[in-house]
Amino acid sequence: MNFESNNLESVEVYENNTDVTRIIAEKIEQCGHTDSFYICDLREILKKYSLWTSTLPRIKPFYAVKANNSTNILKILADFGINFDCASKNEINQILSLGVHPDRIIYAHTIKAPESIKYANKVGVKLMTFDNSEELFKMKKLCPNVRAVLRIRSDARDALVKFGSKFGCDVENEADHLLRLARDLNVDLVGVSFHVGFGCKDIDAFYNAIKLAETVFRLAKLYGYDLSILNIGGGFPGANDIYFKELAITINEALDDFFPNESIQVIAEPGTFFVNSAFTLACNIISKKFNLDSKWVYYVNDGIYGSFNRDYCFNVPVTMYPLHKYSKRKAHPSIIFGVTCATPDRLTKNVSLPLLDIGEWLIFQNMGAYCLSLCTSFNGFATPHIFYIIDDNSLGHVCFQHLKHLHISLNELSSHALNLKKRFSTTYCIDKD
Ligand SMILES: *Cc1c(COP(=O)(O)O)cnc(C)c1O
Repeated sequence: MNFESNNLESVEVYENNTDVTRIIAEKIEQCGHTDSFYICDLREILKKYSLWTSTLPRIKPFYAVKANNSTNILKILADFGINFDCASKNEINQILSLGVHPDRIIYAHTIKAPESIKYANKVGVKLMTFDNSEELFKMKKLCPNVRAVLRIRSDARDALVKFGSKFGCDVENEADHLLRLARDLNVDLVGVSFHVGFGCKDIDAFYNAIKLAETVFRLAKLYGYDLSILNIGGGFPGANDIYFKELAITINEALDDFFPNESIQVIAEPGTFFVNSAFTLACNIISKKFNLDSKWVYYVNDGIYGSFNRDYCFNVPVTMYPLHKYSKRKAHPSIIFGVTCATPDRLTKNVSLPLLDIGEWLIFQNMGAYCLSLCTSFNGFATPHIFYIIDDNSLGHVCFQHLKHLHISLNELSSHALNLKKRFSTTYCIDKD
């Protein structure tokens, strides 16, 4: 593969087991940073890769590019042999420019502009999803050798975002018609897909969806199709590995129960799973006041039109702690506002924090999925800079030419004063009026 023209960002190599909080503190001390910034800990990506391969060995991941399209991340995943779920012409382009073969891409948006289908056809991306007849007509006309995957609706009972109102055909009422149409149009129908929902919290969701998919496999046989691909979509947690393992058990059980034939290729489209825990955001307190309700009000230099757009739109819980420990300070009820001029730009109206000064830092974990990709430049505030880091132990697993300083060892940097035990760590949901 040739990655030379891909403006990869440099990666800094730290001593083994260096804590991200310490790296953040060092960055602030060294560079005199005041803008908010991210640390992307590539060790987390490696951990997620080995977690996936050890728990879901039968399932080939197609990473959902929309979750985070940082070139460094895409390159590592591509090197590991992970495939890609793209939803647009530009995403396809970005993946192809890494030297990835078009066979490793699924165009997994069921709604595609005709121009985009033509483009996919031209560059050799043939695997595409659909959930309605118009899309199937378009796909067959503009990409005659399309390998079509029928997306069905099977929402989790509980998820942060369900997709069923927008995507996926109803198996009971629509699948038969679509299969018949596929046969009449002589479409190469190869499989079935679903997405149980972003932030799936329903332990049975995958089992139920895989069971439903099997009924479609059987139905397709009646139309002469011997389907070969089961695509179980995304919805996996990005920070809760214990819950991931529980989900994996039910998924493997469902595969044993409904798809025991190993010649069926099982794929998935995890986005959040691979990237969420790798990114930690540091925000600076740029102003504060004591309000009439006797609460401390803090203003930080990021907000819901920047890194917290995901948390605001998708009700994702935010976990936060002050960089320093402040063991002698007592906690006060506090409000945190975001940086823009808009009133909805508030992170929370009730959080317990030690008394903090302007210039101090708040740290937010698990900010890798849909945070950078949803940042706007509203009010002229820029997307935070990302520092990519790795350590010696993990370095052997990735091939990066773009290493910055090798073997950074942190000086003792008042590490006792850092919030490594996260004493004031709080989790809250962004409240909307
Ligand atoms: C967004 C999306 C994904 C990724 O979902 P996660 O919950 O982040 O894993 C996968 N497939 C499709 C079709 C999507 O739209």
